[in-house]
Amino acid sequence: MLKDSRSVEYKTTGWKLADDRKSITFSDKKGIGRLKLKGTRDLHFYQINQIKRVRLVKRSDGVYVQLCIDVNRSEDIEPTGNTVGLDVGLKEYYTDSDGLMVENPKFLRIGEKVLKRSQRRVSKKVKGSNNRSKARQILGKRHLKISRQRKDHAVKLARCVVQSNDLIAYEDLRIKNMVLAKRGAFSAQNHCLAKSINDASWYQFHVWVEYFGKVFKRVTVAVNPQYTSQECSSCGVIVKKTLSTRTHVCSCGCVLDRDENAARIILSRGLGTVGHIGTSALDVGNAWGDETSTLFGESLIEQVMS
Ligand SMILES: [Zn+2]
Repeated sequence: MLKDSRSVEYKTTGWKLADDRKSITFSDKKGIGRLKLKGTRDLHFYQINQIKRVRLVKRSDGVYVQLCIDVNRSEDIEPTGNTVGLDVGLKEYYTDSDGLMVENPKFLRIGEKVLKRSQRRVSKKVKGSNNRSKARQILGKRHLKISRQRKDHAVKLARCVVQSNDLIAYEDLRIKNMVLAKRGAFSAQNHCLAKSINDASWYQFHVWVEYFGKVFKRVTVAVNPQYTSQECSSCGVIVKKTLSTRTHVCSCGCVLDRDENAARIILSRGLGTVGHIGTSALDVGNAWGDETSTLFGESLIEQVMS
């Protein structure tokens, strides 16, 4: 199964879920047939016609079936009266506009080392040998473990941020990456791995912030990241800094941690985008930015297959 590719996708035909929801049968000509489902999610919770897509994905520890479910999940929670801006960084996972710093999780730093070691082990083995393919399998599993931890972390953090704020502003990462590349901030080779891990992490985090924004009816805004680290959050003038300048010191008397200043700029840009923010969350309930779209009305669940 899945000889040529790592995944196969079906829409609403070509598969049938058993009545007990414990197995799935594929009726196309790929010869996959009936597969038992293992997993923690109770599929009885969903109607068959809510399943919009079925995808088989091969991972290094087995084959997974992903069910894409149309749920339009939404929950009513009380408005908090809080708004927040988030500045993602290399050193911290993010710094918010109240000066709170969330550290990069330890597993990302440790994971990076472990991955490097496993990678070296693969390249030491003779090409085409059994030992090499074994080492490669181990590398694959480690990758998988870290990516799961990363997702878990992103989901928890995103839910928490969204539940505690009525509006969440963050930088548009596509523009941010262009800006950083221009500055040559990541030219050194050893920064590349750290950066790619961080990028994946941030991107995922943002996707989940948008997702929970829809679920809890909060406003999420992606803002232009240009000059967020240079502009003074108090008076608006540009205060030039190099990458190593960690503190923002402005002639207006404003002295702030560099990232906290940036997070405040991000928040004010976010507030500027949606216009007036009233005291009630209802005022901002319809002010969705155009940027948010990714996971609306869809929930991806995954079951392991045997
Ligand atoms: Zn100032």
